[in-house]
Amino acid sequence: RTVYVNGEYVPENEAKISVFDRGFLMADAIYEVAAVLDGKLTDFPAHIKRLHRSAGELGMRVDVSDDELLEIHRELIRLNGVDQGMVYLQMTRGATDRDFVFDTDALTPSLVLFTQKKELIDTGVARNGMKVITVEDKRWGRCDIKTTQLLYPSLAKMEAKKAGADDAWLVRDGEITEGSSNNAYIVTKDGAIVTRPLSNSILPGITRATLIAYAEETGTRIEERVFTVKEAHEAAEAFITSASVFVGPVVSIDGVQLSDGKPGPVTTRLRELYIAESRKRLL
Ligand code: PMP
Repeated sequence: RTVYVNGEYVPENEAKISVFDRGFLMADAIYEVAAVLDGKLTDFPAHIKRLHRSAGELGMRVDVSDDELLEIHRELIRLNGVDQGMVYLQMTRGATDRDFVFDTDALTPSLVLFTQKKELIDTGVARNGMKVITVEDKRWGRCDIKTTQLLYPSLAKMEAKKAGADDAWLVRDGEITEGSSNNAYIVTKDGAIVTRPLSNSILPGITRATLIAYAEETGTRIEERVFTVKEAHEAAEAFITSASVFVGPVVSIDGVQLSDGKPGPVTTRLRELYIAESRKRLL
């Protein structure tokens, strides 16, 4: 694989980042993941907009233009022959002697991008759905910033795997915030979609925003409000959204099977809608 590191396209085993990089030492880094369909990018402008927002919230400099970022994404897709999969982008504050105090202006941000091939349409999750368990949300108070501080979500997903499930939904004060790496939704018995409103406690998912827009156009009722673990257990359907899964059906929560235990009709329709609409807007 060819990867991009600070201005150069290099074979992955020749790529180098300083051991003093604050991304490595302090998780002082932000990232984005954009899906690739038919060799093209989905929702690219929205991902770049969120990258700028993350950088702004952390006072991190973005030294590369949006056009350059698009060019790097496209070049990596081309060099690696990606038809389906994703492009990962990570930007750090830069390398300096290890210190909690930093001077952003004196640092040069590091920029790394790589691709990963992955089947996105015909997946086991789409066919069979996924099982989730709920675990306490012990993350920091700025989950709206897409940082690489992913240790807790990673441990939560491991706990889910140990319990025989596929993923963990995080819970604060008895209410679901989001999944370990996705936004969480339930579908009520009367067909309304419920998802937590945006705040510091969840990531503003790009797939979330796009799906809500598509769903509203087709007259689906969306309720942006908090929902409890109990409501989730009693839901008709549930699903998650993320850039690389799109819309992923959830068929059981904490061992409680939802409806007949198969991906639900509302979820399946939304997944098809999302894929069809995304295909019309590839870049
Ligand atoms: N929430 C969290 C915690 C995530 O890590 C992700 C994916 N990175 C999402 C939500 C979904 O965001 P997106 O739709 O932009 O991939």
